[in-house]
Amino acid sequence: MTITEIPFWKQKTLTELTNDEWELLCDGCGKCCVLKLEDIETEAVYYTDVACKMLDCQTGRCRDYKRRKQHVPDCILLTPETIEQLAWMPKTCAYRLVYEGQNLPDWHPLISGSTDTVMKAGHSVAGQVFPEGSVEDEDMANHIKNWHDCIDH
Ligand code: SF4
Ligand code: SF4
Repeated sequence: MTITEIPFWKQKTLTELTNDEWELLCDGCGKCCVLKLEDIETEAVYYTDVACKMLDCQTGRCRDYKRRKQHVPDCILLTPETIEQLAWMPKTCAYRLVYEGQNLPDWHPLISGSTDTVMKAGHSVAGQVFPEGSVEDEDMANHIKNWHDCIDH
């Protein structure tokens, strides 16, 4: 394999990626955009099937990605500097996989060549989440969903 045949995410570290490469790495699964519950005693994080208020529940995409911080101040801006702190990111998250030196899954758009494969493989939250505000706080525990074992407990 020549250097030009090696994909960019294997040639570079996360800090060396261009902005475009950084954005391409996101598989668009939307798992990071669901509400999470934290056990105060154990600090364990639990994913739910309730979406952030800015997530389009049908497409699984942020409705205003460029200005997401203005809408949701505690939306985490993932950067090469913050990724190692984000132990709660899904195990399938491409940034986490590259950071850990693992391969991207077959269904990742950069491997399959199509964004459709994320949904076909069942890894997109699109169409599977409830909008924020439609679920009462006391009912949130009933909405815990560990999307394809996306996090260890
Ligand atoms: S503001 Fe957008 S990017 Fe941030 S968690 Fe919500 S949907 Fe996701
Ligand atoms: S979990 Fe990772 S790959 Fe999936 S949408 Fe979030 S940032 Fe992108």
